[in-house]
Amino acid sequence: MTKICSKCKQSKQLESYHKKGGTRDGLRNECKECKKQYDIQYQITHQVKYQQYRNSHKEKSKEYQKQYNTRLKNLVFQHYENQCTGCRIKDTRLLQIDHINNDGAEHRRQLSPKTRGSSGAYFYLWIIKNNFPTNLQLLCANCHFLKTQGFFP
Ligand SMILES: [Zn+2]
Ligand SMILES: [Zn+2]
Repeated sequence: MTKICSKCKQSKQLESYHKKGGTRDGLRNECKECKKQYDIQYQITHQVKYQQYRNSHKEKSKEYQKQYNTRLKNLVFQHYENQCTGCRIKDTRLLQIDHINNDGAEHRRQLSPKTRGSSGAYFYLWIIKNNFPTNLQLLCANCHFLKTQGFFP
């Protein structure tokens, strides 16, 4: 007994077809070979779609993370008056969090690895949670440099 495959139009033995309930002969219309091809094709397109979905999702969450970061940063900067303690410049692009007693490195060691670094959401969150510690201040890049050179009170 043979059956013609609906896909490749070849006449094949019945063993070459997968069983399928609810059909007239209890078999699939396409042969095992064609079914396999179809499955592979399906997997590939499915994978590509999934990849695309993941990529677009990643982009979105990156964008979200950036906005979240900026919101936290603004909150922290506002508390420290949005200006450099040294020269009073009010350009937030230049401002950074500074440890007044130069204990930044020590402080960062105490923080979890995630919170290390003086920028980033975790650090800002830490500042907010700790009620804006008074040993922190904003300094612009220039004043920060002067301070590290010992020219700053
Ligand atoms: Zn076939
Ligand atoms: Zn300054």
